[in-house]
Amino acid sequence: MRGILEEAGIDNATREAEWLLEAATSKQTSEMIAASDQEISEMTAHRALKLASRRAAGEPLQYLTGVAGFRYLQLKVGPGVFIPRPETELVAARAMSRLPDGGSLADIGTGSGAIALAVATERPHARVWATERSPIAMEWARRNRDELDAAVTLIRGNLFEGLPAELEGALDVVVSNPPYVADADAHLLGEDVRDHEPHEALFAGLEGLLLVEVIASEARRWLRDGGWLVMEIGYDQANKVADLLARLDYSDVDVSQDLAHKDRIVEARWPG
Ligand code: SAM
Ligand code: GLN
Repeated sequence: MRGILEEAGIDNATREAEWLLEAATSKQTSEMIAASDQEISEMTAHRALKLASRRAAGEPLQYLTGVAGFRYLQLKVGPGVFIPRPETELVAARAMSRLPDGGSLADIGTGSGAIALAVATERPHARVWATERSPIAMEWARRNRDELDAAVTLIRGNLFEGLPAELEGALDVVVSNPPYVADADAHLLGEDVRDHEPHEALFAGLEGLLLVEVIASEARRWLRDGGWLVMEIGYDQANKVADLLARLDYSDVDVSQDLAHKDRIVEARWPG
């Protein structure tokens, strides 16, 4: 197995082989009930090799194992939903640091539910809403929410659409990891990302700022005075986004970096 992965140029071949083997071993099928021990090992080996060759052909590891780690959580993921990234764990941390005890937060474009579920489980007194436009992503978020029995209200809709009217001017934090890749930067993404993850989760127009702009503008209607907007952004977008937030009358604009020292998180307080 490791050989197949190594040959395909996968950096972490040994670890990935372990995870794929584990995924193959843990999957039970009805044929196994009547099978002998030897037949079961053969079926498992066959399944593990099949997973390894799909991985070698470019499918993301997490779609094959069906899980992605995010902070303290193991989230279920599969084709059609964005795989949560390590840099977004920091976005969730920043959002939590801006959230008073018992405060309210909305996660816009929640995907698998990653940020919203991290907040709800790490800050059990928080009131958490999450929106998502893609019906497939929404299904994954629902599944993860139900399995964790987390107190997150999921709403399918475009950005802030569907949030209850009483939250207007009342939210402590609006957080989002929106799509922010510029259309022209598609070639900078790994092939496993570009060819397998949903494009509606990644791309946002010529400069990648289409969603960031609308979220920053509309969040003003939902945040209370003194509330915070926390957004993940592209590595080269910090100056533009900081200018935008200042123009929209936010204050205390702050940019922080991801683990690779790239500008990645922007925070700002409403109003200026
Ligand atoms: N928050 C998740 C995370 O960090 O793993 C997902 C982030 S992914 C980069 C962006 C998400 O926004 C996708 O799930 C995508 O379907 C969703 N999305 C894109 N456009 C949207 C819109 N107009 N309204 C709501 N959600 C949207
Ligand atoms: N960081 C992601 C990637 O390059 C893009 C995330 C996004 O658009 N929000 O794979």
